[in-house]
Amino acid sequence: MLSSAIKVVCLSIALSVGAQAVERNEPEAATGYENKQAHIGKEYMVVAANPYASWAGKNIVEQGGSAIDAAVAIQAMLTLVEPQSSGIGGGAFILYWDNKTKTLHTFDGRETAPAAVNPYWFYNGTKSMSWLEAVVGGKSVGVPGALRALETAQKSFGKLPWKTLFEDAINTSAKGFKVSPRLAHLVEIDRHPGLKQFPSSATYFYPAGLPLKAGTIKKNKALADTLRHIAEEGADYFYQGPIAEKIVKAVNNAPINAGKMTLEDLASYEALKKKPICGDYRNNKICGMAPPSSGGINVFQILKLLEGQDLSSLSPDSVAFINLFAQASALSYADREKYVADSDFVDLPFAALINDPYLKRRAQGISADKPWKKVRAGEPYTNRPISVGMNLEQPNTSHFSVVDKEGNAVSITTSIEFMFGSGLMVEGFLLNNQLTDFSFNPERGGWPVANRVEPGKRPRSAMSPTMVFDEDGELSLVVGSPGGSRIVSYVAQTLFGVLDFGLNIQEAINLPRVTNRNDYTALESKTPLVSLKGPLETLGHTVKIIDLNSGLHGIQLKDGQLIGGADPRREGVAVGQ
Ligand code: GLU
Repeated sequence: MLSSAIKVVCLSIALSVGAQAVERNEPEAATGYENKQAHIGKEYMVVAANPYASWAGKNIVEQGGSAIDAAVAIQAMLTLVEPQSSGIGGGAFILYWDNKTKTLHTFDGRETAPAAVNPYWFYNGTKSMSWLEAVVGGKSVGVPGALRALETAQKSFGKLPWKTLFEDAINTSAKGFKVSPRLAHLVEIDRHPGLKQFPSSATYFYPAGLPLKAGTIKKNKALADTLRHIAEEGADYFYQGPIAEKIVKAVNNAPINAGKMTLEDLASYEALKKKPICGDYRNNKICGMAPPSSGGINVFQILKLLEGQDLSSLSPDSVAFINLFAQASALSYADREKYVADSDFVDLPFAALINDPYLKRRAQGISADKPWKKVRAGEPYTNRPISVGMNLEQPNTSHFSVVDKEGNAVSITTSIEFMFGSGLMVEGFLLNNQLTDFSFNPERGGWPVANRVEPGKRPRSAMSPTMVFDEDGELSLVVGSPGGSRIVSYVAQTLFGVLDFGLNIQEAINLPRVTNRNDYTALESKTPLVSLKGPLETLGHTVKIIDLNSGLHGIQLKDGQLIGGADPRREGVAVGQ
């Protein structure tokens, strides 16, 4: 145990040395930029982070499947081809638009903390663990929720038999897939401090001790087998059968950071149906996910805080817009940090956080030439004292969007948290490290931190699957992104692009990224925004020029057309017709 702990410490030092191009604690490396064109269709559209996944979704829609049928096929395929980002060992938030009844449903498939945790779960004696130390092994693994959430949604809205949805992923796992440059790069840079330490993941990602190479045909027979059983027997095979036993064993016997998960934790996992968070912005209705996702609340807050500004007279890459955007983002992230957590555990004033009078009050003083300043959380009604916590959400995750032939749609953000999750691999898939999205410190200044670790609780997330509806209530946009806590900014900026600047979804996704999480203003490196550093500094911003790896995948519905947009910063494609 001691030697394992030492290894983790040494590796985390290596990580910080080797990661000079990216920020510490944000170990997502850019893997290039590929110009992409909007893909136009009339019948249906699928956009996912990897071509195999987009095509798996397309095949299902072409067989008459609904958007949620396609989503199951996409997630199964992503588990294989984009294992660093999401999979059946992780969690997901699902927005499902039922076009017949014109109803938006959401499913919370976020991981839960096992019953045995306590608020000091990430403490070693009296000291909080470092984030990276906590990621590796069993302690960080939450009870996976993605598969149960997809099954729950598919039972209500699927059209094809469950079994057929896995065919592509099973065949491709058995016959092999071509390792993508991004996956190969992330394996090669070796930034996960645990991946090489657990035999099952080490042999998979470093066969014969060498990193997987791009273009290699890689088989995953264990995953083929797992998916075959899930296809035949349903998600219970995972939650109550042999897979549950193997997950518990992997977590509790992990040679580093052993956890305490039980069969009961898995058997009792439930995906929760929740009301979406919706609000009006100009003539649109913006809808997102309820807590523990902060997406619904915070994306809406950013938009609403700028509703009083004449944005369309500005350019999206002007100092004026970026200064406004940074002020609104800072206000929203301040609220997020203090208030947003699993609302089944904390008294979260979310109606108060998105109501008009509160946001009008918060928006007072925002202006294009106001010097930027760090802000405090606001004071919506809450009857419980809460303190600000600290946690980091890492940028490895995946977003996919589908509109099917009947106009039903899904917007799903899905994640195993850090790249390659906890590093533990069970029967061909990786287990998440989502519990590190909790605040490690349970209290501050004598007050409880809203997002502290508690048994059965779901960690706060920035994942922001979003849908927008026009003034007639018709679906007009489906979008979302990975990107750690920057997700909220990525999605909000893209919505401004479409709704205020009149860009199509691809153009809005292409916009050079800017974020401000109430800390500093990050401008995307190698873009024209770099030249704004000086003027923004004059306005009081601390500016950092860094890689900003959004992975926005969206669909715009306009004038009878479906416009698919895929992020040039990742490997995704839009397919449809
Ligand atoms: N774990 C993060 C969250 O749930 C997402 C991480 C990512 O985008 O890579 O907010």
